[in-house]
Amino acid sequence: MRIILLGPPGAGKGTQAARLVEKYGLPYISTGDILRAARNSDTELGRKAKEYMDRGELVPDEVVIGLVRERLSRLRQRGSFILDGFPRTVAQAKALDEILAELGMALDRVIDLEVDPPALVRRLSRRRTCRVCGAVYHLDYNPPQQPGVCDSCGGELYQRPDDQEATIQRRLQVYFEQTRPLEEYYERRRLLTRIDGEASIDEVELAIETVLGLKEQE
Ligand code: AMP
Repeated sequence: MRIILLGPPGAGKGTQAARLVEKYGLPYISTGDILRAARNSDTELGRKAKEYMDRGELVPDEVVIGLVRERLSRLRQRGSFILDGFPRTVAQAKALDEILAELGMALDRVIDLEVDPPALVRRLSRRRTCRVCGAVYHLDYNPPQQPGVCDSCGGELYQRPDDQEATIQRRLQVYFEQTRPLEEYYERRRLLTRIDGEASIDEVELAIETVLGLKEQE
């Protein structure tokens, strides 16, 4: 199973990926998670990533492509992956095609989670993330059992700096300008499936499992 989760920030990619990882044990690559971990370290990559992430801009293609190339090479034996947040530009999608060809792997499906901008803003501004394991919550729709504490690992929940109102707008703009063209890119290759990301978390999960042939359609 080799899949990409596509969709704007706040569409539910991370939430759905976490469920698929837990249920099916698929190796998971989130460029956002990798970059956030780097951002907190005192390395050149960390400093560079921070500069872009805090403004809601994309980290340069060559940096992100290098990270993904390294991760995918390590996963070669497993032959499966979920990519979340990559690719985000056409240049990244082209690079991914090359990397996968080199590794003798092919994409099975690109799942596009569709959510309208007002709902995205509501989701992102009320989102809380675990500092330790990266699990995501929503203060109204998917709250943790104990305020401020991660259900999965007990870590501290915080608001990502880029989930603050001013940066959210820029991230959405960047998505529409740079990432949305990927829908057409994958549609032309007959790999794209659109799913209504405004349905409940369980409904979206079922829709994804059905598309991937993991659940029989009723
Ligand atoms: P995410 O957690 O996927 O929302 O990503 C958070 C931030 O990390 C983004 O706003 C970008 O600054 C950066 N980032 C994550 N993935 C990529 C990517 N594929 N290309 C460029 N920047 C990325």
